Amino acid sequence: MIDTAIIGAGPDGLSLAAHLGAAGADFRIFGRPMTSWRENMPKGMMLKSDGFASNLSAPDAQSTLKAWCAERNVEYDDEYIPVPLSVFVEYSDWFQKRYVPTLEEHQVISVAKSARGFILWLDNGESLEAANVVLAVGIPWFQNIPASLRALPREMLSHSFGHRELTQFSGKRVLVLGAGASAVNAAVMAQQDGVDVAVVTRVPEIQFHSPPDPDAVSWLRAITHPSSGIGPGWRSFLCTNAPRLFRRMPDALRLRATKRHLGPESGWYMRGKLTAQQYLEHTIEGARVDGDRAVLIARDAQDTRVEIPADHIIAATGFKPDLRSLPFLDSSLRDAIAHLEHTPRLSDNFETSVPGLHVLGVLAANSFGPLMRFMVGAEYTSPRLAAHLVKACARAVA
Ligand SMILES: Cc1cc2nc3c(=O)[nH]c(=O)nc-3n(C[C@H](O)[C@H](O)[C@H](O)COP(=O)(O)OP(=O)(O)OC[C@H]3O[C@@H](n4cnc5c(N)ncnc54)[C@H](O)[C@@H]3O)c2cc1C
Repeated sequence: MIDTAIIGAGPDGLSLAAHLGAAGADFRIFGRPMTSWRENMPKGMMLKSDGFASNLSAPDAQSTLKAWCAERNVEYDDEYIPVPLSVFVEYSDWFQKRYVPTLEEHQVISVAKSARGFILWLDNGESLEAANVVLAVGIPWFQNIPASLRALPREMLSHSFGHRELTQFSGKRVLVLGAGASAVNAAVMAQQDGVDVAVVTRVPEIQFHSPPDPDAVSWLRAITHPSSGIGPGWRSFLCTNAPRLFRRMPDALRLRATKRHLGPESGWYMRGKLTAQQYLEHTIEGARVDGDRAVLIARDAQDTRVEIPADHIIAATGFKPDLRSLPFLDSSLRDAIAHLEHTPRLSDNFETSVPGLHVLGVLAANSFGPLMRFMVGAEYTSPRLAAHLVKACARAVA
């Protein structure tokens, strides 16, 4: 019986483990490190988050990306230099080895309630019992593909998550659906990989962040657009600095804010890179197979039905967190979790209605807001959850 089992070794799981490790807590953490970043994002991507918001969290000032870059003479700026994915992955590799050396690279294949806590099964056949479980399972299980496309065969339809490169489509016609950073990243990568790519969006224009402007720095701007780890402006500032307050808002208001705040937008440095054909203001109605090609069916801004043929369609249509998508959660455990739109209702300590079961990351966004969709959220969650777990386990012993 251990005190805490952490499932998932992305920014959230590793950060929590770093804080628990520093507190001398009894825990184990499972998962291959940083798979979402290492294996599933476009190879030449730049991070959308600024340098100062691209840290894994540990109770040590030397653990930041800034400190890591300074020590290695790697180009870095809090705001003006975008962080390349390759640099971030190298940094996270170092972080894991330094702060979470006990990581066990096993997949958790089952979690169920036991008499004293939880029982977990690993992919090597081992089982263990834990008083507390933390689900830090991130985004991979929640890839969202519009229902109207799901009839297409696998070879004609995929999600943008998982495409490190697109050379397999070189010379072929590919449609990328979506207007956010994932869509723009995928389309630009497709251009570079020699793909005949077009982007199809529901919105009339693809949006980009405004570039940081040193001339715009003023006390007035600092008041009207305060800076935060998820972007400038008062709403983002409040989401970043008052997630506990956010949790106390009425359900409907909270859900609306989580859905609507920070719509699809790409990093400022991507502006001008997208040269692919764009079908803007197209609402997707469905798709059909025509021989060895897919045909996307949509309505344009004039409400005219259009058919767009392609060899492959990539849905860059985001992620939809849903407890039912976690195949390793025992169904009776899952059914016992009080939920809101199939995401768990969480206490101030990130605990579900099942005592001892905690949740971090995008699954926590309907409780704590948009901050939970970004790694900077770990700077809020990991020290607090670590302190709570240490206290709870000490109480249980006493
Ligand atoms: C293209 C793209 C670009 C992005 N850019 C940014 C950005 O610039 N800045 C930012 O802050 N956010 C960005 N995000 C969002 C980013 O994914 C999250 O901020 C971050 O990954 C959250 O960390 P996490 O630990 O919750 O999730 P993840 O990084 O997804 O980590 C979860 C881990 O859990 C593992 N896991 C899942 N189930 C199990 C299991 N049963 N057993 C063991 N391990 C398991 C997974 O393999 C994964 O490694 C981006 C997302 C995408 C798709």
